[in-house]
Amino acid sequence: MTRFEPAAAGPDLYERIRRLYPICRSITGDGVRETLRLIAEEIELEVREIPSGTPVFDWTVPNEWNIRDAYIANARGERVVDFRASNLHVVNYSVPVHGHMSLAQLRPHLFSIPEQPDWIPYRTAYYAETWGFCLSHRQLEQLEDETYEVHIDSSLAPGHLTFGQSYLAGETADEVLFSSHVCHPSLCNDNLSGISVAVSLAKILRDRPRRYSYRFVFAPGTIGAITWLALHQPQAERVAHGVILACAGDRGPLTYKRSRRGGAAIDRAFAHLLKDRPGAQLQEFSPLGYDERQYCSPGFNLPVGVLSRTPHGCFPEYHTSADDLDLVAPEALADTLSLLLELVDVIEGDATFRNLNPRCEPQLGRRGLYAAMGGHTGQDRRLREAALLWVLNLSDGGHSLLDVAERSGLPFGTVRDAAASLEAAGLLERMRSA
Ligand code: ZN
Repeated sequence: MTRFEPAAAGPDLYERIRRLYPICRSITGDGVRETLRLIAEEIELEVREIPSGTPVFDWTVPNEWNIRDAYIANARGERVVDFRASNLHVVNYSVPVHGHMSLAQLRPHLFSIPEQPDWIPYRTAYYAETWGFCLSHRQLEQLEDETYEVHIDSSLAPGHLTFGQSYLAGETADEVLFSSHVCHPSLCNDNLSGISVAVSLAKILRDRPRRYSYRFVFAPGTIGAITWLALHQPQAERVAHGVILACAGDRGPLTYKRSRRGGAAIDRAFAHLLKDRPGAQLQEFSPLGYDERQYCSPGFNLPVGVLSRTPHGCFPEYHTSADDLDLVAPEALADTLSLLLELVDVIEGDATFRNLNPRCEPQLGRRGLYAAMGGHTGQDRRLREAALLWVLNLSDGGHSLLDVAERSGLPFGTVRDAAASLEAAGLLERMRSA
């Protein structure tokens, strides 16, 4: 197994976003299909098409939306707002429209951000049959009082909702779930960053031995996650740990939002890992945000948290055209990926042991356990010695290695290595994996 080099992963993570960026995605339609097709060039992907009208819990799979072109043209026939320049210009899920109208008639269908006059907002109208255009406030202010031709060449008709998933079987059927939404058009941090990190993670884990099975879900937000859950209830019951990936590529520090359970192993593992990340934040659960709203609904209550850098809504570029290729950085994407690999090390390596020599400390020197650390010096050596003593002390069958790492404040990897040495020396007996 080659060691992961975060700096080397950055360019690939970024390049994937650059390739996916131009596609006009929505909760259904060809943009999602094209996105999944590009993902499937890199990892094995099962793509499912669920017909419009399919009931999924309290919801119904909606009609499929596709768009080919849209514009507002002035009296001289010049496109003053043009879908070809940015797919954000059309309110996502707009019904088709073609006609001529005055600025006053058009005005209720126009959306801008006065405080950020150069940015185009991102708006959706999934569950209301309406139409609209988004434009920069500067563009809006330049519109003169004349008759405009308004054209949206879209279709909203029975079709399918499309989602994809990649499954990597492990030694056990218990699953680790990574979920990213795939419904936003040309926006990078929300949500292409999450997709890109998930694809790279799947490629790395594919080539590693795995105790857990891993599932990567690429589904439209809300309705896609609801549909996935409706069709995968047995799989959902096998989710031992889960992470939603979103806003994973900006230059801000890492943020982990706990699952509804609050103290699930995934919550504790992230809390432990983020201690060593400067500026990292932990957030408590709330039933707002991304698909934790579905995975953590009380009927499922899955141990699924959300990993972001700057959380949604907390950066000014959120849901605007400024969430572009400049907002995400290769180093930030690689840093998010490296944290996920550390997480995988924790959940794969966590186990509970029993000390076979529990009455007073065993003699470690006699068993070569101090000598084995000859290659280590100074601080590193002190940490390793401390880890041996902590693991021996807490291995009473009731504490896992993550418990030891939390209580001792030692890095999980150091604790795991100590347990391996102690097990090899016959001082520990493995009770169970995690
Ligand atoms: Zn969003």
